[in-house]
Amino acid sequence: MSSPIRVRIAPSPTGFLHVGTARTALFNFLYAKGHGGQFILRIEDTDRERSQDIYTQNIYDSLKALGLQWDEGPDIGGPYAPYAQSERTATYQEWAEKLLANGQAYHCYLTQAELDAEKAAAQAEKRAYIYSGACRDPKVREELAAKPDEQGNPRKPSIRFRIPDERGTLTFQDAVRGEVSFDTKLLGDFVIMKSDGTPSYNFAVVVDDILMQISHVIRGEDHISNTPRQIMIYEAFNVVPPQFAHVGMILAPDRTKLSKRHGAVAVSDYIKDGYLPEAFCNFLTLLGWSPPDGEEIGTMEHFAQQFELERITHSPAIFEKDKLNFINGKLIRTLPLPELLTVARPYLHQFDLRQYSDETLYCLLDAVREPITVLSELPEAVNYFFGRTVILDAQLVGEVLTGPEPAHILEHFKTDFLATANFESPEALAEAIKSFTNSMKPIKTKTVMWAIRAAVTGRTHGADLSKTLYILGKEVVTHRLETALTLTTGSPA
Ligand code: GLU
Repeated sequence: MSSPIRVRIAPSPTGFLHVGTARTALFNFLYAKGHGGQFILRIEDTDRERSQDIYTQNIYDSLKALGLQWDEGPDIGGPYAPYAQSERTATYQEWAEKLLANGQAYHCYLTQAELDAEKAAAQAEKRAYIYSGACRDPKVREELAAKPDEQGNPRKPSIRFRIPDERGTLTFQDAVRGEVSFDTKLLGDFVIMKSDGTPSYNFAVVVDDILMQISHVIRGEDHISNTPRQIMIYEAFNVVPPQFAHVGMILAPDRTKLSKRHGAVAVSDYIKDGYLPEAFCNFLTLLGWSPPDGEEIGTMEHFAQQFELERITHSPAIFEKDKLNFINGKLIRTLPLPELLTVARPYLHQFDLRQYSDETLYCLLDAVREPITVLSELPEAVNYFFGRTVILDAQLVGEVLTGPEPAHILEHFKTDFLATANFESPEALAEAIKSFTNSMKPIKTKTVMWAIRAAVTGRTHGADLSKTLYILGKEVVTHRLETALTLTTGSPA
């Protein structure tokens, strides 16, 4: 029987959740969900100086906002708890001891200054730096251990992994990149436990992936050069490594690493801007993966069913915001109105929505949603539906409402239209507007509509006019029209 699928996302809480990490989380999530597996969250907070609780919280909040709920994690526990590396130090020390005991690792007493000198010498000779292996020799270790450091203090050793001399070329099958090889001679014995007693990334990640029974490691390609080191640690513990899958990086349109100078990189900023989680996930899914049925717009459930690692591309994916906007706009236009109202409410907190029934709010959102790309555009799109009056600025008055023609249109709108029109439904109003514009001929329909819209909304563009009048209601429309008339009548022709 094959072992269960267990994948993980292992972010370091040293910043807000980055879109690249979210994409990796999503790929892991889709793989787990499509294969009946478990999706694990592990917080890699061994760097105590740079790790912060607000970032951990941001990771939780952002993953949850995207709907990427984990099955095991620091906050909810699980069979392999704890899931925060800072709480697992004793385990790493214990595992490092095992390697020390059988000579697969050794203490290194070189100080930072001495290591820097090794590096400088390599640089001077124009060769790539590889740790000299000085402390492999027990005699050297003994001598250095007895010698104080540059400040006169006893030296604190780190623990280095001893790369087996005979290991030669290490080859592994990556699910995305195929066969990948490294010459282990070029790696140099590397630190597994730092001199302060905390583990290095490469060591902690392997110990945890072994103990947490991780079956597949799906992560960014930036980790591929760590993989041979990690595989050698698996070998030292006689454990079969997981299946690795290294996903191509996400680049900005200028093909450089996606960074703040290209715009927001934190998932929480996108959520705040009003990207819908489903749309954002849909967009991320397509950054380096393509659905076999070619249908790019879909639900996470649908993508999970089709998600195979072999369809991940190793070439970089370009973060095209226009595509994200397209997907988001499309979802906003097609979301059932009750759902749209639920997600829109937080963006509309400055308006008193209680003045309208939910039915009217559906009509309102439906009337304004067409050009909306992100929910944060909503306040600007709906503001003329709130309050009895609207501001008619000088430019609008000058361009649309000045002169005898607009005055004529608005006078008739008041006497002919408002006196008789049925405000019961947008459809009834659409009919009434049609007969009114006909009655105003030879003035162009466009000109008539323009003047009415400007008078009632203070704008030249906006929601469908019949819906607008319906939502505002007769009383408000009349009031706004009268205000506009005071500005148009008597104006110079
Ligand atoms: N903490 C690492 C990172 O955030 C995890 C890498 C891995 O998945 O092994 O990049």
